[in-house]
Amino acid sequence: MKVHLLQIPQGETLHLEGEEDASALDLPEAGATATSPLSYSLDVGVSDGGLFATGHLAVRVRMRCVVCLEDLEIEIVADPFSMQMELTGREQIDLTPFVREDIHLLLPPHPRCDAGAVCSAAGALRSGQHQPERVDPAWNALDKLKK
Ligand SMILES: [Zn+2]
Repeated sequence: MKVHLLQIPQGETLHLEGEEDASALDLPEAGATATSPLSYSLDVGVSDGGLFATGHLAVRVRMRCVVCLEDLEIEIVADPFSMQMELTGREQIDLTPFVREDIHLLLPPHPRCDAGAVCSAAGALRSGQHQPERVDPAWNALDKLKK
């Protein structure tokens, strides 16, 4: 997600909206897999030699429930998202590191599909209801990395 300073009108903000491949977010590092592109709506401006952006971000991710070990999908929404940085003389600014950091902070450290009895019961029944199609190769790769 790159912005060129010349795109930003002086004294005004540039509105950026769209979707971007979520692979730049490095979600697998956090045990999550993106199931949607990253959608963003940002207003970017310059003030006092710094660049700022405000708006919102959203991406759907699949994580594994820590209780029953089933996959669950969560929508991660950063609203409001805001960041600012000093301008270092470069005209092309990459917002991706700021976006990535915010999204990672919003990922639940202990995701639960349904906190409480339903989930526990699902965990107890899991061995009987195992569905092979839910074993995602990405998870297998992650499990290997953890060892
Ligand atoms: Zn669960």
